[in-house]
Amino acid sequence: MANHLEEGKKFLDTVMYYYDKAAKHTGLPKGLLERIRHCNSVYKVTFPVEIDGEIHNIEGIRVQHSMHKLPTKGGIRYSPEVSEDEVKALATLMTFKCAVVNVPFGGAKGGVKIDPRKVSEKVLEKVTRRFATELIKKNLIGPAVDVPAPDYGTGGREMGWIADTYMTFKFGDTDAQGCVTGKPIGIGGIRGRTEATGLGVFYGLREFFNFEEDTKKIGLTTGLAGKTVIVQGLGNVGYHAAKFLQETGAKIVGIAEYEGGIFDANGLDVQAVFKHRQASKSILNYPGATNVENSLAMLEMECDILVPAALENQITEANADRVKAKVIAEAANGPITMQAEEVLLKKGVVIIPDLYLNAGGVTVSYFEWLKNLSNVRFGRMGKRAEEKSYSKIVDTVEALTGNKLTFEERASIVQGADEEDIVRSGLEDTMIGSYREIRDALVEKPELGDLRTAAFYVSIRKIALSYQMLGIFP
Ligand code: NAD
Repeated sequence: MANHLEEGKKFLDTVMYYYDKAAKHTGLPKGLLERIRHCNSVYKVTFPVEIDGEIHNIEGIRVQHSMHKLPTKGGIRYSPEVSEDEVKALATLMTFKCAVVNVPFGGAKGGVKIDPRKVSEKVLEKVTRRFATELIKKNLIGPAVDVPAPDYGTGGREMGWIADTYMTFKFGDTDAQGCVTGKPIGIGGIRGRTEATGLGVFYGLREFFNFEEDTKKIGLTTGLAGKTVIVQGLGNVGYHAAKFLQETGAKIVGIAEYEGGIFDANGLDVQAVFKHRQASKSILNYPGATNVENSLAMLEMECDILVPAALENQITEANADRVKAKVIAEAANGPITMQAEEVLLKKGVVIIPDLYLNAGGVTVSYFEWLKNLSNVRFGRMGKRAEEKSYSKIVDTVEALTGNKLTFEERASIVQGADEEDIVRSGLEDTMIGSYREIRDALVEKPELGDLRTAAFYVSIRKIALSYQMLGIFP
């Protein structure tokens, strides 16, 4: 079996193992648990695209894992390594991810077998528009049906092409922009989406470090300030997570990319490392840091928090026992295999699981979808009214105290919430509230054993309730 097929199978087996581990604690009927576990539908399509004068048959896939809530939701990945099992694993994770953060969607995922770095923008546009058309033909995309988003190898540009294609076919549908999220702002995107997943990772970690009884168990104090962090993958999620962690006082001592890693016990400046990599095309040779040629070895270096933010299957039975971090924050999807998890849990490592920790992206995608359906920017209706009320309060305080605020002081108090403020507030509330639900489940039912099992347990029960409310299952 080709390596990527094996990797995809390993990933799917891991997700299923985590599901089964949690499902047995729920006491729910077997038939219902099987319904929740299985992928609802898999659509595979091949379509011809001309590349450099030759016809290539491109393979695309869309998996809708669960329709207990509609629309279904999940990114589209562009990679030559896309496999059915990998997309199924990611679609399955999306179902539980949405449930754990109370986003009312079912899970889905898509993939197109193409290397976006090896073809021109024109070809990518042709492929994206054709794939979107194939989905439209089968009614597999739409604001009330299935709503894709960016994933590995895709971004706002591709989402814009999908939205434009959909809107061309559905002329006159005022909800049409909500057929896809992660769009550029100009065509219905939302402020705060780009950094949402990394910011969510930060909020999730901050919440873990608020509970003294939990940090004490692993020999750490509360709070993120001063904690040492290694990040794998300085892409969208890794960069933003590292940036917010650094801003709060954590020390980013190591960053790994596929070409190697860099380490500095005094802490790296994330923004400067990012710029250095952009300019020199490599993370290596960053001034003052030590080069680590073997990128994977970075995962085994001394730190309090390890943040894998690249790809799946990075911590395996081959390296798990050498991992020294006390907390692993799964910013990527599926970075730890099931065999590795057993080793890590035995060592007492706390794993903050992907289905919760990287759900910031889908949470803000949900906000974008809401914005598209209501056809109005968040904050547009209330911002000025809020500012007038706050201004009246400041006027009253000034009159009562006889003290006048400076222009800047007044401006910072009276400012009403704009779209970005509202999005961040919703994201922060979601990450805090969901962490507490997971932690409460673990406190109430210690036999769940770990945060991942507790997160699956919480989400399985929510999904089961949806089916039960539909009257399908007892
Ligand atoms: P990205 O492409 O922006 O970043 C990935 C980074 O990892 C790149 O810089 C790449 O060079 C690096 N990388 C690749 N292989 C590596 C290796 N072997 N060692 C070290 N670095 C390596 O992708 P992203 O959007 O940041 O996604 C990263 C992970 O987060 C994926 O697992 C994705 O599914 C998951 N995720 C992303 C989002 C999102 O909103 N973007 C949401 C949820 C989950």
